[in-house]
Amino acid sequence: MKVYDVIIVGGGAAGFFVAANLLSKSQNFKILLLEKSKQVLQKVKISGGGRCNVTHACFEPKELIQFYPRGNQELLGPFYRFQPADTIQWFESKQVPLKIEKDKRIFPKSNNSQSIIDCLLKYSQNIDLHLSEALIDFQNQNSLYQVTTNKNLYQTRNLVLTTGSSKEIWNLLTSKKIAIVDPVPSLFTFKFVNPWSHLSGISVKQVCLKIKDLPIQSCGDFLITHQGCSGPVTLALSAWAARVLYYRNYRFDLIIDWTHQSLDWEQLNGFIQNHHFKELHNACPVDIPNRLWKFLLYDYAQFHSKKWGQLKENEKNKIFEILTHTVVPINGKNTFKEEFVTAGGVDLKSINFKTMEHKLYSNLYFAGEILNIDAVTGGFNFQAAWTTGFIVAESILKK
Ligand SMILES: Cc1cc2nc3c(=O)[nH]c(=O)nc-3n(C[C@H](O)[C@H](O)[C@H](O)COP(=O)(O)OP(=O)(O)OC[C@H]3O[C@@H](n4cnc5c(N)ncnc54)[C@H](O)[C@@H]3O)c2cc1C
Repeated sequence: MKVYDVIIVGGGAAGFFVAANLLSKSQNFKILLLEKSKQVLQKVKISGGGRCNVTHACFEPKELIQFYPRGNQELLGPFYRFQPADTIQWFESKQVPLKIEKDKRIFPKSNNSQSIIDCLLKYSQNIDLHLSEALIDFQNQNSLYQVTTNKNLYQTRNLVLTTGSSKEIWNLLTSKKIAIVDPVPSLFTFKFVNPWSHLSGISVKQVCLKIKDLPIQSCGDFLITHQGCSGPVTLALSAWAARVLYYRNYRFDLIIDWTHQSLDWEQLNGFIQNHHFKELHNACPVDIPNRLWKFLLYDYAQFHSKKWGQLKENEKNKIFEILTHTVVPINGKNTFKEEFVTAGGVDLKSINFKTMEHKLYSNLYFAGEILNIDAVTGGFNFQAAWTTGFIVAESILKK
């Protein structure tokens, strides 16, 4: 039976990054990469709408971890070793120029995920790549792992699991007493009980969203869709609240603050004085599109047409309430097609983040989405795959 130095299970971003980094230091490694489907790097292919949002222009580890609802504490050390600046350097040194967009997302200059795929494949050329071959089981015997697939048996000194959000592998790991945090979806959009379809396409900058009765909030750009809402702020909130919303079956009250928490009574009174003779719908104290303002006034809050100077005290309260506390009942979620991930996976307490090795199984490593790590949208999920993959390769090389 052939003995490998390393068997990597899963031909996604994390698996190929481990392989490429191992081979960049030594071409003598005997590496087998097992991929259960017929093609590798399929998620990279479709990522970022086919452009692959490889990472994010955030170069301070303490700031970077704030984008990870799960894994933020554990990733701090790893980000000091491999962070977005290193990702940029890694790809650019391999002739894949990258560009930073206005919102700090980073893409290949080609605007084509194939550039990333070609690069990962080129720098992993010397591995044995077995497609349509799935890991079924593994056993640790005499410091070697016996690896059973649907086709064959192998032995390896190091076993690296990068199988993403695979239920079969999480079940296999559970059977080996490796703790798994229950997987639930993350990064989704919300469905309104009564959609604001006629406002679909309207976007508002810097909105703050909260979930009623929960201390979870997100601020950022908001988009009204045909069925509900989307945009970076919605996706971020879905990530931070992924688990609690799953258990609530995605039924909850969304609270929208259109003022980015910046409106106070003094400002509102000043605005009223300055717009005394204007109709309510012809002037809004915050910068939101007029169609949305009219809807909030007349449909949502049921105001009758009047001038700012005619408002009674209780009506002023109501205006303040609409602007800072619009309540929208939600009864479901939709998949965000550009990016979605799973919250849950291998329990981070069981992993040594200096090596990405399991604390009880030596020479068993994990990288990427198989771990209970996930981030908001914007390139952070790939960054976690690059960082954890890099550390796996470094640890194996050290040994
Ligand atoms: C549509 C979409 C768009 C996205 N866009 C972005 C983006 O632009 N930026 C970003 O940062 N993130 C993005 N993400 C998230 C990102 O793709 C993932 O975080 C990342 O791909 C995780 O990489 P991975 O290698 O850990 O897992 P995966 O990419 O899921 O790879 C795991 C591999 O393991 C294989 N496998 C599973 N079980 C077995 C088995 N038993 N034996 C052998 N092989 C097995 C699978 O077939 C798969 O090829 C997107 C996700 C989706 C779904």
